Amino acid sequence: MAEFKISNNSYIVTIANDEIEKIDIVQLGGLTMKKWYDKQENKPDYMINASLWDDKGAIGTIWQNGELIRNEGTGYGFGINKSGGFGFGDPWNIDWQNYITGYPALIKDGQKTVDSVDSYVMTSKSQRSIVASAGNNIYLIATTGMTVAQLKYFCYNKGFYNAINLDGGGSSRLMIGDKAVNSPTDDRKCPNAICVWLKKDNKKEDNNTMTTKKVFLGVGHGGSDPGAVANNMKEADINLSIALACCDELVRNGVEVKLSRMSDEDDPLTEEIQECNSYAPDLAVDIHTNAGGGYGFEVYHTIYGGTGKTLAENIEAEVIAAGQLSRGVKIHKSETTGKDYYGFIRETSCPAVICEIGFIDNKRDLAQFDEKPEQIKFGKAYAHGILKTLGVEIMSDTTTQTPEKDETKHWAYVNYESLKAQGVELSEMRFDDKISRGEAFALADKIIKALCVKA
Ligand SMILES: [Zn+2]
Repeated sequence: MAEFKISNNSYIVTIANDEIEKIDIVQLGGLTMKKWYDKQENKPDYMINASLWDDKGAIGTIWQNGELIRNEGTGYGFGINKSGGFGFGDPWNIDWQNYITGYPALIKDGQKTVDSVDSYVMTSKSQRSIVASAGNNIYLIATTGMTVAQLKYFCYNKGFYNAINLDGGGSSRLMIGDKAVNSPTDDRKCPNAICVWLKKDNKKEDNNTMTTKKVFLGVGHGGSDPGAVANNMKEADINLSIALACCDELVRNGVEVKLSRMSDEDDPLTEEIQECNSYAPDLAVDIHTNAGGGYGFEVYHTIYGGTGKTLAENIEAEVIAAGQLSRGVKIHKSETTGKDYYGFIRETSCPAVICEIGFIDNKRDLAQFDEKPEQIKFGKAYAHGILKTLGVEIMSDTTTQTPEKDETKHWAYVNYESLKAQGVELSEMRFDDKISRGEAFALADKIIKALCVKA
């Protein structure tokens, strides 16, 4: 069954080829994706915006209804052939019915590509869309906060055999049914979109699981507002890291999640509250880090108690079990209005709590949560408190390996890239792993051989 997962700033739909009834690249005829969708009698189950575009329409080499309608003379892309099959390849196949090139291609036949495009496209960290394949699956992906170079590694590390970058920025839109599941910045017209229709029996299964619980996670601060800053750390970063781990764990347990932000961007509280209320979740948690002297975790719920209080108590119990001290489950009543003091608790329309994992300005307390694995541990603890409150049974976690790191941010990444460029064959990055004497000899041998080949 098609699967939807949110992880590492990305929204990924995985579809097995054998559950696809039909896949196509449709021309939207000057409409937004949603408007086009609404007009269809046979509505696709999934849609993602496709070609980058300019005033002449879709950019790249484009086949439309069996005709080559734009020829850039180069490219690698995704297409549907005349018998309804689909796949990746170069544009010079007269069998293409509909075809678009990626800008740029990210992975070709299992290899990272060397396509270079405008430097703005390479270095900007806007939202982006991707179509990819591996094994018997096709993947529709919307990401945010990665450069094209990082996208390549993201796709490569996911084991994709082919992947192309589609359009980015405000056009990035991944739809499941009539809903955009990434956080599109606006509802733009796009020239075309990739659409997938599932076989009917798969659809039925999908519908059976539609009674999923929904959780909204507010990720405190971000962008121009770093929140509390101390000991070389920003509250906004810690909050995001905990929130993403919490999200992953909730999604793993079948809960639908919306995050107020997925990267370091502006995220004012008023917007957070609006977003939460329009999402209409079962529960909401605002994730923060404390400052101002003190130590330990604390959590606030409404002065009226109820499910909010239960949620606060459940999360506290999990945080304590994960090794952090607690200052308690608290309320804060405004002396002037007699209502809840905090907007996130007062203005949201579902049970909501505010969690403060600890004090960023207390070195001993900060040591409990300053490292990524600790932030992931507490993100999971929050998720378990939430799941308990929702009455969702927690599935055992068989993947006990440490979560993926973004190795492209490591200081040694430039050296790794440079060695690869010189033709030295290297295995996975895993920059902080130890090397054995044998591996050191093998590496030295590889380097010398690569140099000999060059000479
Ligand atoms: Zn805060």
